[in-house]
Amino acid sequence: MNFSRMDLADCATPEAMLAEIEKLQAGAFPIAVPIEDWAAALDIAAIETLETEGFEGGLMMFADRSSGTILVNKAAGWRRRRFTIAHELGHFLLPWHTPRNGEAFRCSKKDMAVFRTQPGGDRYVEMEAQANRFAAGVLMPSAPFRADLRARRHFEVSHIVELADRYDVSKEACARRCADLHDDAIAVVVSRDGIFQRAYRGSDFPRFSVAAGHPLPPASVASRATLAAEQVSAWHELAADHWLERARGTLCEQTLGQQGGFRLTLLTFDEGEAEEEEEVERAWAPPSFRKRP
Ligand SMILES: [Zn+2]
Repeated sequence: MNFSRMDLADCATPEAMLAEIEKLQAGAFPIAVPIEDWAAALDIAAIETLETEGFEGGLMMFADRSSGTILVNKAAGWRRRRFTIAHELGHFLLPWHTPRNGEAFRCSKKDMAVFRTQPGGDRYVEMEAQANRFAAGVLMPSAPFRADLRARRHFEVSHIVELADRYDVSKEACARRCADLHDDAIAVVVSRDGIFQRAYRGSDFPRFSVAAGHPLPPASVASRATLAAEQVSAWHELAADHWLERARGTLCEQTLGQQGGFRLTLLTFDEGEAEEEEEVERAWAPPSFRKRP
């Protein structure tokens, strides 16, 4: 580990802190990150399990932030615990993060799912979003993760599984990071028993027309394929408007079967040449002026 808490003292956002960590660890990022060792080196005195229902993690710290204790949900698997430890470490290191009741952070599963917030929103929700972005970034650092994505040029849903193993994170946490950092417009949909649960999409990927709690598009391979757990479907191409709002072009999809009726579906979006040509034409069209009556 090439940095100390002192090196991070001036970083007020997770992005600044992660940039500093990546700079100081440049070329020597251990993968998977030994997050428990790092937490200990950054003044986390203990990591203990927590049995309180409804909480994924917690953080108790002295008012002067000299040291802290992280609590993790006893029922959670190893990879979810790693994310929780990184999340609580984010609360501990980010100087403006203070718990709601003044004593301890208690973070729920819902808190662990928020990554972006509206400006001027609830400051405690913003803290949760920041802690999550810190956790994703410290466990899947952007430079090595991007290099890993670029090394897999024809991206497949099996690569999400492979990268989740490599970084020792859950498939979902990995899928979200893939969507965020991939050079192409990709998205990953989580479904269960044919019902859309949630989706992670890159910034270039259009909005979905399917909402959470609703059936998957009947034409999609995610809906139609018969798959055992860990089995991957063939690639399937279909018109984008089956999945997307007001989008032309095509989508390619590939689905991974999981336990308990869950599926992970990778979608890649291609706007199509027709659309691009039309945009060029529009861009070059002479300006039109309305005649005065
Ligand atoms: Zn939290």
